[in-house]
Amino acid sequence: MEQTLQNTAEEKAFVEKQFNAMLDIYLHSNHRKNEELVREAFAFARAAHQGVRRRSGEPYILHPIAVATIVADEIGLGSTSICAALLHDVVEDTDYTVEDIEMRFGKKIAQIVDGLTKISGGVFGEQASKQAENFRKLLLTMSEDIRVVLIKMADRLHNMRTLASMPKAKQLKIAGETQYIYAPLANRLGLYAIKTELEDLSFKYEHPDKYEELSSRVAETKEDREKLFTMFAKPISEKLDSLGLKYEIHARVKSVYSIWRKMQNKNIPFEEVFDLLALRIVFTPEDIKDEKKICWEIYSAVTDLYKPHPDRIRDWVSTPRANGYEALHVTVMGPLGQWVEVQIRSQRMNDIAEKGFAAHWKYKTGEQDDSELEKWLQTIKDLLENPEQNAIDFLDTFKLNLFASEIFVFTPSGDIKTMPQGSTVLDFAFALHTDMGVQCIGAKVNHRLQPLSYVLSSGDQVEILTSKKQSPLATWIDMVKTAKAKSKIRNLFKKEYKSYTIKGENELKALLKKHGQDLSADLLSRMMEHYGTEKDEDLYYKIGKAEVKIDELPKLFFKEKAQSRWMRFWSLNIFSSNKKTDDAEIQVTDETLRTAECCSPIPGDDVICFIDEDGKYVVHKRQCPVAMRLKSNYGDRIVSAVWKNEERLSYPATISIKGMDEKGVLSKILDIISNEHSINMSKINLETKDNIFEGEITLYIHDVEDLNNLCLNILKVNGMKSVQRIEK
Ligand code: MN
Repeated sequence: MEQTLQNTAEEKAFVEKQFNAMLDIYLHSNHRKNEELVREAFAFARAAHQGVRRRSGEPYILHPIAVATIVADEIGLGSTSICAALLHDVVEDTDYTVEDIEMRFGKKIAQIVDGLTKISGGVFGEQASKQAENFRKLLLTMSEDIRVVLIKMADRLHNMRTLASMPKAKQLKIAGETQYIYAPLANRLGLYAIKTELEDLSFKYEHPDKYEELSSRVAETKEDREKLFTMFAKPISEKLDSLGLKYEIHARVKSVYSIWRKMQNKNIPFEEVFDLLALRIVFTPEDIKDEKKICWEIYSAVTDLYKPHPDRIRDWVSTPRANGYEALHVTVMGPLGQWVEVQIRSQRMNDIAEKGFAAHWKYKTGEQDDSELEKWLQTIKDLLENPEQNAIDFLDTFKLNLFASEIFVFTPSGDIKTMPQGSTVLDFAFALHTDMGVQCIGAKVNHRLQPLSYVLSSGDQVEILTSKKQSPLATWIDMVKTAKAKSKIRNLFKKEYKSYTIKGENELKALLKKHGQDLSADLLSRMMEHYGTEKDEDLYYKIGKAEVKIDELPKLFFKEKAQSRWMRFWSLNIFSSNKKTDDAEIQVTDETLRTAECCSPIPGDDVICFIDEDGKYVVHKRQCPVAMRLKSNYGDRIVSAVWKNEERLSYPATISIKGMDEKGVLSKILDIISNEHSINMSKINLETKDNIFEGEITLYIHDVEDLNNLCLNILKVNGMKSVQRIEK
């Protein structure tokens, strides 16, 4: 932002026009109208930001207007939120105070603006502790008034839409933060459309080339898709018309980011992302009570015409997802033999899917809202009421909840509880009630006796068994997955836990000193990853309790393994995050660069660099869990990197293969590897059982593309079930 001369008349008219467009959306909504207040907020914000411009050169006020437009249009909120959105940067960027806002616009709007001002610094601050504290602030304000975080989402979305005017290093930082915190949070809040756009925009700035490539491929196939859509939808329309339903059918294309993620996860080319086209049927029932029935009527009409894929029916009508999403999804075989996903929703479900929380309120019927979303907010409130000593711990604990995908578990009386995937019997007991957790001795899962550590699956019916004589153990912490159970157990053992933690930390420090090593962030992350602890204190605790044998640490972690030869022949384009040297490429040498042992990236992999304590660049795969942790805790020391200068040298990679043990299969595979691809093998390990063979082959390969081609060719052999690179 910089000060400039007065705005021109043309600009003034444009600002006016943008505001009126926003006002128009608001006046056409179902909200109670408070036009005067909205106009006042606009006038106040415009005067406050007068003469200030954004980096892109446009008048600053256009930003608050854009945020208010998203708030009104895409999230569907009312005048309080619209005013707060218009005023959201006033306290932060001008001389006005929260008291000024309160005097003019009342307590509620002032509180929201105050919340937004408090969390205006990025979630990833300069130091790990500061960013964790910022994140905690975000959650605190969110639990006080959910509108704070909804407006924050709108603010972030507009900043992402206008990110192009930022310098490259800043783009990467903001995009990374968006990907890491805001998109999952938007998903959790049920803001599906916003989540998708945030992901796509982050992807665009993190991988501009791939984004371009995939977007143009999607555009190229547009015509074919439209033809297919017409051909596919026509019979469905006829059928639905004959049923006398009021509905609309839309074609939907997968987002670029979700196409890319699928290609990465499944290691497949663009052509094989099969459900590129999705169809959405949105109907308006005469009576809201008939919603569910009509969903299944439409399902039946569609599957009369097209054959459904048996594994791809998702019934989120009977059991909504934890973020409130409701719909019936089915994937069917289209007329040209391709799979098409059909999403069936009522208008109400559609609103909820698009606008999340705000729509929930709109359709709220009873006085008591016990939606999954409300319950989730309640768990955040619980966590905040029971704070841990350390903000970073809190962030780690909370993130567990944010990213976990969910399962549904039933109580004996048939109530449904949503739990994160991987939850155990003990988690479930704590989710029901703290006392139940403390006294839990096991459970009957689907009427069979199971221990505390038993991992639950979706659909399980669980009856918790308790005993007053039960006394909890500190090791229970390793048996639970949910943040709630972890913090409850930790509280029970605070004293004992603390003393072992201190003991372990001292022992580790003494050991490091003896070996002349520093406790670097990288070393700590590798150890935590290895021993499966989520927090450094848990690691110290395990060392203190001698659950981790301290003697084995030097062998496992201290010695840096010899570098592969290929490093000399490859180089990385690294983008500096240093503000003074925006976009500068850094020259790295063998001495200043090394690959991380945790994920062993190879040239062509999607990578990032972490700058360690000695100023060395450590290359990690982007999806590497250690890198994820470093990214969240040391955001400023992560830099983007791209491979360049390809040389034909080889280095090891391992693939796993699985298939039917038919005659000649193995010799065919080995033939493909050594003759067709001329690739050397260093190790083969195969086992055969019940006509299925399974095993691993370690090869010397050139790059990812070679490896992918090889995998595809092996997969073509009759009887092969799967071929995958083993991610380390
Ligand atoms: Mn802003």
